[in-house]
Amino acid sequence: MHSESDSLGEFAVIQRFFKTGAQAMHSNKDQNITLGIGDDCALLKPVVGEEIAITSDMLVEGRHFFSNANPALLGRKALAVNLSDLAAMGARPLGFTLAIALPRPDVIWLEAFCEGLFAIANEFSCPLIGGDTTAGPLTISITAFGSIPAEKAIRRSGAKPGEDIWISGTTGDARLTLAALRHEILIPEDDLKQIESRMHDPIPRVNLGLRLRDIASAALDVSDGLLGDLQHILEQSQVSAEIFLELIPKSLILRKQAEDIQHQFAACGGDDYEICFTAPVAQRQVIKAISKDLNLPITHIGQITKMSNAQAIVRLLDADGKLISDTEAAALLKSFDHFAS
Ligand code: ADP
Ligand code: MG
Repeated sequence: MHSESDSLGEFAVIQRFFKTGAQAMHSNKDQNITLGIGDDCALLKPVVGEEIAITSDMLVEGRHFFSNANPALLGRKALAVNLSDLAAMGARPLGFTLAIALPRPDVIWLEAFCEGLFAIANEFSCPLIGGDTTAGPLTISITAFGSIPAEKAIRRSGAKPGEDIWISGTTGDARLTLAALRHEILIPEDDLKQIESRMHDPIPRVNLGLRLRDIASAALDVSDGLLGDLQHILEQSQVSAEIFLELIPKSLILRKQAEDIQHQFAACGGDDYEICFTAPVAQRQVIKAISKDLNLPITHIGQITKMSNAQAIVRLLDADGKLISDTEAAALLKSFDHFAS
């Protein structure tokens, strides 16, 4: 409690880091933000004919990140996970607020955190418009606001039997990185370098979300594992699903692992921040064109089916389309359960 930086009060921190950073990124193109940091509230002007999408995500030290986490990457990730939620609804980012608890006002940490935070804010034209700053155990809570034409938001409840199920990018690399960092799995240093950004610096699929507005019938971003998150779509849409386990897209690095690890991490790993969505079969060509335009793989991994005995469930299929029994699936997918945090 005696270093120079400790003398920085709450207002000095807001002014020196958050207000200055926000002003540096603000250009006049922000017609939606009438008033930013400095008053009791920010003012956000809704676009006529559009709805405001609102999402919050909290990152807590020790729970969501290691205490020695790189602050610049933490700044990026704190906003990225919120942008990913906006993307999953098809919303265009408008701005965000930041509520932050800091054990002490560490200037070096704050500089790096803001560098990462404002870099990604700029990349996605999403300005910081307000927040709260207090002393306390390191906690970063962001609320992001997005805009979407009325009734166009892609909800979890819109999937229908017969539709295709798609996933963007690849899944499982964030989980593999975590396993490597925890020394549960040994992977070559060069391989780790290629995938670790999937855990520390996820890319929110905002452009994909915007393109899916009139195409997807349901969508969500995968943060807790593909199959577990898909279950939310199934329950809210009152449907079931068939997933070809082999078709879940995996990176070349993950493909070097034993098959059970590949399946476990890609299907249930978590922290992927890819978009899982459903769409009518008639949209296949359009989706392939979007994939090409965005230079982002989008893979058809299964079908929506009717509920089975009034239950919304996922059935797993092998490469030949044969049903994988529950026992086999448990063996394939649960083998690394003891790694779960
Ligand atoms: P109040 O006491 O009226 O809630 P504060 O003193 O908490 O206001 O904050 C002053 C101004 O600074 C407000 O406009 C608030 O939105 C902004 N602010 C506070 N903390 C942050 C932060 N971490 N990031 C961005 N803006 C912040
Ligand atoms: Mg306040």
